Amino acid sequence: ETASKYDAPSMVPVGVDPTRASIARVYDAFLGGKDNYAIDREVFDQVLQVAPEARDLAWSNRNFLTRAVRFLTDQGGIRQFLDCGSGLPTAENTHQIAQRIDPEARVVYVDNDPVVIAHGEALLEENDFTHFVAADIFQPQQVLQNPQVRKHLDFEQPIALLHVGTLHHYTADNGGELMREYIDALAPGSFVAISHFLNPETPEHQALATRMEDVFIHSPMRSGRFRTKAELRKFLPGLEIIPPGPGAEPDFTLSDMWWPDGPRLRPLSPVEECSAAAVGHKPL
Ligand code: SAM
Repeated sequence: ETASKYDAPSMVPVGVDPTRASIARVYDAFLGGKDNYAIDREVFDQVLQVAPEARDLAWSNRNFLTRAVRFLTDQGGIRQFLDCGSGLPTAENTHQIAQRIDPEARVVYVDNDPVVIAHGEALLEENDFTHFVAADIFQPQQVLQNPQVRKHLDFEQPIALLHVGTLHHYTADNGGELMREYIDALAPGSFVAISHFLNPETPEHQALATRMEDVFIHSPMRSGRFRTKAELRKFLPGLEIIPPGPGAEPDFTLSDMWWPDGPRLRPLSPVEECSAAAVGHKPL
């Protein structure tokens, strides 16, 4: 494979190296799944040491995915999803959420983790409208030019591109350019949904974000950047951000605060202050 301007240390595929934790398996451990190994649980345990509520970080992310896909299908009228970094199958996957609203909504999942490829292909390709592609999501052209992606998604029509819980594993600084390549390929009216570890820049929570980033980057997983809102906005070039709540400014917000399902009855846990999300719309 040729060198690419998007190469970065964390981008070396985890393969079957037993000394490397896999992002997908570590995430599975955070969510309480069973598809993870000792090396992955080691990362989870290290994060628990600095953030006892660490599980909430993964659930904030996953619950945002659920609400965003429901919104995009129902309000956005989207019938095609390109889910980058699908992860291991959980109870509520993108196709299950979208196809509850329209059984013919099309979903293409993309991931490059060997365990996801092994389990995901079988479990996620549940019907003729749901497909799985093995590709590197940080090489946009590899995804966009993939024949399966082109076969199952119509790029002349709006698409929802999901980069949920992925870009914090892209450690280089040119992620805005990377996302622009994706966005340029999308038809007007398309949407992009992103969630990402947040550096909250507040005296109470910044130290926690820094400690978690330090653990992730030095762990056998080797990636997990906590970016500021200003850094995150660069991931949605040329898009109009959907206001994340009634009367809210169009901007990234805490993932838990993005159109929550109901009123908040308990305070956010500290890690929930360290995850942000937004949905952008490509102007018509
Ligand atoms: N999107 C899901 C969610 O939010 O629940 C899963 C998020 S999980 C934290 C990140 C996923 O991105 C993992 O499954 C991992 O294998 C995948 N991933 C990370 N780097 C990747 C790459 N370069 N190419 C393809 N997939 C990648």
